[in-house]
Amino acid sequence: MKVHAEPKPLTGPLPGGTRGATVTVQPLSGGEVQFPAASFERPGGPFETLKASGLFTSRSTGWWWVQCPAFLITHPSAGTILVDTSLHSSIAAEPGENFGRLASRFARPRIEPGKDLPSQLRGLGADPRSIPLVVMTHLHVDHASGISEFPSSTFVVSSAEWAAATSGSRPILRGYRPQHYDYVFDYRLVDFDDPKIDSYATFARTFDLFGDGSIRLAFTPGHTLGHMCVLARLRDRDFVIAGDAVYTVRQLEGGPEQPRPHDPHLWRRSLQELQLFAREYPQAVIVPGHDPKQWPTLEAKYE
Ligand SMILES: [Zn+2]
Repeated sequence: MKVHAEPKPLTGPLPGGTRGATVTVQPLSGGEVQFPAASFERPGGPFETLKASGLFTSRSTGWWWVQCPAFLITHPSAGTILVDTSLHSSIAAEPGENFGRLASRFARPRIEPGKDLPSQLRGLGADPRSIPLVVMTHLHVDHASGISEFPSSTFVVSSAEWAAATSGSRPILRGYRPQHYDYVFDYRLVDFDDPKIDSYATFARTFDLFGDGSIRLAFTPGHTLGHMCVLARLRDRDFVIAGDAVYTVRQLEGGPEQPRPHDPHLWRRSLQELQLFAREYPQAVIVPGHDPKQWPTLEAKYE
């Protein structure tokens, strides 16, 4: 599978950093998807794979509606940074077109009228066309669906994720839909094998986005081969956008594992980095990718 975009490597920090800077984080949901519960947490017992497919599970009881979060980060000198793009606003009227027929059957998406991410961003004074930077935790359909709504932004992705999402056959079976990212946008790739990559707290491989410690990208592969978490420094604690490295708080606390991470060994290693972080920094806010119980408890803005 060939895509047209020609990404460039991101080897050093982006301009705009300020020593000691702290940021604010606003969690936003640009829609929801409905997945079989067994595709988030291993149900155990026989027929696990069938249960995760949802084919024999009632939608009313065995499927979860979960948020597709995005996060608006405001940096005092680098401006606004969006993490993940949630769902494309066209899904409000026509879900099949953006998600594709196969994906929208397995993961039914929906957006409440007027609650799409671009509308919410505009409501917060952040015009989608003037957001300079978008960081992608990974490129799965429920995170990358809205990429085309940010044509003027620079996108930061890990080079391992880009490779995974743009090679091999039948990407949809691995959760990717190249139509979501096959644009000649400004993509910058972070190579976590680079010798300049550093550790931070319990994370072995991190990239300091502006060189001021305000936003760090932590390489947490396993869910996908190039997954990243985003660590944002608030005034007196860190805010961790865990992406799909963990789906739920229960998973972070050692509950049922993900049924089908791309690489189970790497997934457990990344999980341990997050678990150690949670133990060492209990004041940190950690937001898993799709926890329907935690989402309503989050504050509108973290400073
Ligand atoms: Zn995912």
